[in-house]
Amino acid sequence: RVVVVGSANVDLVVAVPRHPRGGETLLGGGLQRLPGGKGANQAVAAARAGGAPTSFVGAVGRDDDGTLLLDALRGDGVDVTAVERTASPTGTALVMVDGDGENAIVVAPGANADVGPGVGVAVVAAEPAVVLAQLEVPVDAVVAAFRARPDAARSVLNAAPSRALPAALLAATDVLVVNEHEARDVLAGEHGDEGGDEGPADPTDTARALLALVPAVVLTLGARGCVVAVRDGDPVAVAAPVVEAVDTTGAGDVLCGVLAARLADGDALVVAARTAVVAGALAVTRAGAQPAVPTAREVAAAAP
Ligand code: ADP
Repeated sequence: RVVVVGSANVDLVVAVPRHPRGGETLLGGGLQRLPGGKGANQAVAAARAGGAPTSFVGAVGRDDDGTLLLDALRGDGVDVTAVERTASPTGTALVMVDGDGENAIVVAPGANADVGPGVGVAVVAAEPAVVLAQLEVPVDAVVAAFRARPDAARSVLNAAPSRALPAALLAATDVLVVNEHEARDVLAGEHGDEGGDEGPADPTDTARALLALVPAVVLTLGARGCVVAVRDGDPVAVAAPVVEAVDTTGAGDVLCGVLAARLADGDALVVAARTAVVAGALAVTRAGAQPAVPTAREVAAAAP
């Protein structure tokens, strides 16, 4: 089983000709209301990857948006019995997508902020092979979930949104998945720097630097795929197939969910990453987050 601990948001998506500057008002396209949130997206990606069953642990409001999100997860066969419904409004993401498929997102966390350290611990402690989490819910909840996992289960942390990571979280993380921006913030946090604005670094060097903090790293590189690094070997570059980008929203989520599902099915990290990178590339060819998640069959057909 894969247990995903994280956020569920309703995405309010609007197409824009370009991203607005501060103080500027632009006219966009029609508004879409879609299920999203890094945690829920990753759970859907894990479920569509087939193989291990998937559970989602998180919180939504007692409102129509909360029902929309739970129905979407159930529709993909995700177990939602450990999801709490709280008095807060369901989390909402305001998403703008420009003509190049580049997105800008603001999240109002709502019920996601109510995910406490006790949530879903019974599910995590039961029998998962992989516990996957992100940082759109309180860090304490992620640390508690990772610590509650059985000895045989691996923890996979997608350190997004970007931030420095507390020592307790790093100590409980087996595999760290970050993009280059997140990697810089994680490393800067370790060195007490402001972080985030240094020049381009060699991804292999970045991945190696992260190995000082966690035993295994998947550094995602957008159209360039990813680099996989473990402590007792050389980093391995995994190329992404060339695709036409329509909407990059959720590409990283697809990669994380598929990676977790493949690991839970017994794949080695590099093998799991090869499948996950193809799935991520397919996701950018389609609009939306959860609607863009490919199935295992589609990923197999697109694999090199
Ligand atoms: P995030 O979405 O978290 O910023 P990335 O941009 O690194 O993460 O993308 C995650 C994964 O999605 C990549 O490793 C790759 O598999 C896929 N991907 C993203 N953008 C593209 C692209 N333009 N072409 C092909 N694959 C892409």
